[in-house]
Order: sequence, then C-alpha cells, then structure tokens
Amino acid sequence: MHKIVDLASEESLLAHNRELAEKINKQLKERGIRSVDVMGAIGSGKTTILEKLSERLKDRYRIGALAGDLTTTIDADRIGAHGVKTFQINTGKECHLDAHFISHAVDKVSEDIDLLFIENVGNLICPADFPLGADKRMVVISVTEGPYMVKKHPYIFREADVAVINKKDLAEPMQVSVKQLKEDVKTISPGTRVVIMCARTGEGIEELILALEL
Ligand code: MG
Ligand code: ZN
Repeated sequence: MHKIVDLASEESLLAHNRELAEKINKQLKERGIRSVDVMGAIGSGKTTILEKLSERLKDRYRIGALAGDLTTTIDADRIGAHGVKTFQINTGKECHLDAHFISHAVDKVSEDIDLLFIENVGNLICPADFPLGADKRMVVISVTEGPYMVKKHPYIFREADVAVINKKDLAEPMQVSVKQLKEDVKTISPGTRVVIMCARTGEGIEELILALEL
C-alpha cells in the first residue's frame, strides 16, 4: 500500500514538472529567448564549455545563465567573468534542478537576453526525469570518467539532443575509446548528435554551436 501511494505521488510530481517546463518554454519563446539545459557529472566540463560558448557567441547574442549547485557560486562566477548575466540557484541538498527552481530564477536574468544557458547540478541520473523547459538538452561526459558513462546512464542520453564527449586529449592516457563512447550514444539514442571536444583548448566548439543550432 505504502509503495503504491509513493509511486502515484512521484508520477504526479513528474507530470507537474513537465507541465511547468512546457509553460517555461512558451514564456521564453514569447520573450525571444533561446535556451539550453546543460547536464553532466561534476568535473565533466560543463562550466568550461559554457565559458567557451559565451566567448564565441557574445557578439551574436545577449547571454544569460542560471547555474545550479548545492551550495557554491563557483560556476556562476566563472561564467559571469565573460560578461554573461548570471544567477546562481543553490539547491541545498537537492541533486538536480527542476522546473520550479527555473520558474522562480528565470526572471532574474531574462531581461535583455536572447540566449539562456542553464547549468544543471552535476549528476547524470535524476536530471533525465526533470526537463526544465529549455529548447535543447545537452549532456556532457568526459573520457576521464571511464568507458561506461554512456552505457550506465541510458535515460539521460535518450533525453539529450546533443551529447558532448569532452577531454578527448586525455583519451589515450586514460585508455578510453572516444569512438566506442560515440557508438554507445548512437546505440542508445540514434537521434542524439554527438560532438567530440576538448573544451579546455576550444577544439570542437564550432561543431557544438552548429549542433545546438545557435
Ligand atoms: Mg560546473
Ligand atoms: Zn536529483
């Protein structure tokens, strides 16, 4: 009995989140704002990628960013250093962002921007269940996380429009096959575009911009 009640309430929680996400997407579109939800584990390179994207795109768009993190403002500070209007969402103990956090935070940055990045909390599990209302969902993994990151997280790759395989320069010392990781993505989610990058040097950033249709 207890379990049935829990499942029902979880389902309604997810349905509520999806509804709110659709509303957020509509609001952003009405304001002429494109949006990207960036997911991936801590240390995969999400913030570095957003720094590089911001540098490349700052003449084309007025950019804003929401950064989700348990307690720190490290990511918002780093992205903000590139002239991006940022707002940190501290989730406390919550291990993912949800549409409710976004609905409250979006007004803090949405004035005078045309592009919104949302950096999710570093985790590859629950963000899959909680769309935030972004036009595109992107997931980042790095070769330093080992060879099974895709196989072990099928749900998030199915959700993602774009998958980045980052830190390609470290593939050889790590003895991880970039080609295999790409094949794993294509097996799990044929429609997901794969971009191979070295965010630190900026390699692959143009391809990522194309994949995100920015
Ligand atoms: Mg980060
Ligand atoms: Zn979570």
